[in-house]
Amino acid sequence: MINIVLFGPPGAGKGTQAEHLKEKYSLKHISTGDLFRYNIKNETELGKLAKSYMDKGALVPDEVTIKMLNAKVEEHLDSKGFIFDGFPRTKAQAQSLNELMESKDSQINAMVALEVPDEVLVERLLERGKTSGRKDDANEEVIRNRIKVYYNETEVLKEFYKKEDKYYGVDGVGSISEITNRISKVVDSL
Ligand code: ADP
Repeated sequence: MINIVLFGPPGAGKGTQAEHLKEKYSLKHISTGDLFRYNIKNETELGKLAKSYMDKGALVPDEVTIKMLNAKVEEHLDSKGFIFDGFPRTKAQAQSLNELMESKDSQINAMVALEVPDEVLVERLLERGKTSGRKDDANEEVIRNRIKVYYNETEVLKEFYKKEDKYYGVDGVGSISEITNRISKVVDSL
């Protein structure tokens, strides 16, 4: 298996790149944000709970998020590997992901971190908000809160994966295909 954590602040382009990479490398793409939005759309209990956090730009509690992620991985153990998009976002999630991978005699091979300046992120998210229908993209205050949460709670994970020698920073500014090529160089080197 090849398992990649696609990392970066909100608006860095993780979802877009994951769509290209999953085809190129036949990997299963798991986006926790997409899973929550699916649950919200279907008005499940999980969706109702997640919505109260997501609308504010806060993180959904670890326990709930980890359980959902683990269940999704179990469903797709026959795949060649995973692209994790939007997970892990806390140290507890990262530890839990390592344990899950170990229990499958596998591992995370790389964290690919997309680097994009904050002002570009805000611009991209506001632009996406015009068409995405995502409530958390429509309001600049919520967007800025998501970026703040990223710096306060999530960015430390770079250190977590650096310690494991699995960190790869990639310039996330440029055309979609340029960025896919940059990420592919990393994946091909694994
Ligand atoms: P973005 O990265 O562009 O903000 P996502 O679709 O990845 O968008 O996430 C949207 C929201 O879903 C987050 O702001 C958060 O509330 C929730 N969420 C997604 N993934 C996680 C996670 N791993 N842990 C906690 N909350 C999450």
